[in-house]
Amino acid sequence: MTELSPLFETLAAEFEARHGSRPAGFWSAPGRVNLIGEHTDYNEGFVLPFAIDRRAVVALAGAAPDAPALARVSSTFSDQIVELALADLAPDALADWSAYPLGVAWALAEHVSATSGTEARRALPGFALHIHSDVPIGAGLSSSAAIECAAAVALNEFWQLGLAPAELARIGQIAENQAVGAPTGIMDQSASMLGHTDAAVFLDCRSMNAESVPLGLYAEDLEILVIDTRVSHDHATGGYAERRASCERAAAEMGVKSLRELSVADLPRLQQRLDDETFRRARHVISENERVEQTVRLLETEGPLAIGALLDASHVSMRDDFEISVPELDLAVEVAQEGGAIGARMTGGGFGGSALALIRRPQRPALEAAVLEAFTARGYRRPDLFVVQPSAGATMKGHLDD
Ligand code: ADP
Ligand code: MG
Repeated sequence: MTELSPLFETLAAEFEARHGSRPAGFWSAPGRVNLIGEHTDYNEGFVLPFAIDRRAVVALAGAAPDAPALARVSSTFSDQIVELALADLAPDALADWSAYPLGVAWALAEHVSATSGTEARRALPGFALHIHSDVPIGAGLSSSAAIECAAAVALNEFWQLGLAPAELARIGQIAENQAVGAPTGIMDQSASMLGHTDAAVFLDCRSMNAESVPLGLYAEDLEILVIDTRVSHDHATGGYAERRASCERAAAEMGVKSLRELSVADLPRLQQRLDDETFRRARHVISENERVEQTVRLLETEGPLAIGALLDASHVSMRDDFEISVPELDLAVEVAQEGGAIGARMTGGGFGGSALALIRRPQRPALEAAVLEAFTARGYRRPDLFVVQPSAGATMKGHLDD
């Protein structure tokens, strides 16, 4: 056996304690932070997320010889080991955290059925999979996509499916939409699959074209500070689905397939046709699409110091038009801006989670102190502050333990 890094050694021991054998390999996928482009993905618009230096790692091995068609999943996050016959994998059969990895197994098995037939699906071997993630849960950093993508790359290699990164992102989204029941777009999985060091993923959610956009943070000595308010959110039941419905209503009312078809020039027409609330929801999405395109253009022509005003404007739009911010997020953004951040905004689906601030590296200690002080003064829960590095996406080939 080759020598393992300390993390893989820990994971191998965790795997063995739960599944009774050594894992065959290790695969990983990161969480993500969305630089700009919020609630635009399911409106066929633009997003600009980046993969971060916090990852879900999975260890996987073939099923035990006495139960060859079993899917078995575990996580350091839970004491529970969930097992199910591969043939019984179905959205209705899945619940709680295991719906993420088993939902991915189900979506891949469905893909095999659709492309190679039910015989091929029946021939898929069982597996045991263990998850170890340092992506914080519910902080808006997409711990869910990290797990989905790590499970997807692991099973893609174990089942020899040969799917490409963008296809695996789609598998992760299908798992999240249908097995978990959260109506989220493809942004999180795309960032997790396609990220590069010091770059963001510019994704057109209509054409599905993805492009790597260098951020140039290192060269300018900039950092992205995340302020996790620790106000929790729940996309499956919260206002997320409601916002999505408003966007669909606005598009239908305007006779277009999605809000992507409309531009800022159309806003006066929308205002005449839509009720005030639906109009403001649509205005957020339409103006946000434009801000993402402008951000990409500015990154390419002038670099990261030029994008601050767009980040700030994005926050105002989410706070006032889309109404998905909370007082803790607004405070984090305000304090960051007052403390000299280049730009700041809430990030992620909203109703809690994190804000990000683009800052000069030497500013960080003073800014962190100011945020903590402001939260204490308001009697809010102590936020969690950390820097994220734009990082590489999922490992397509596992580190095999042979
Ligand atoms: P996030 O913004 O972090 O993606 P979600 O609500 O979308 O928040 O996903 C969080 C859920 O993902 C958790 O409630 C849990 O079910 C699952 N999850 C996250 N991390 C792990 C983990 N390490 N092991 C098992 N399940 C996890
Ligand atoms: Mg999520």
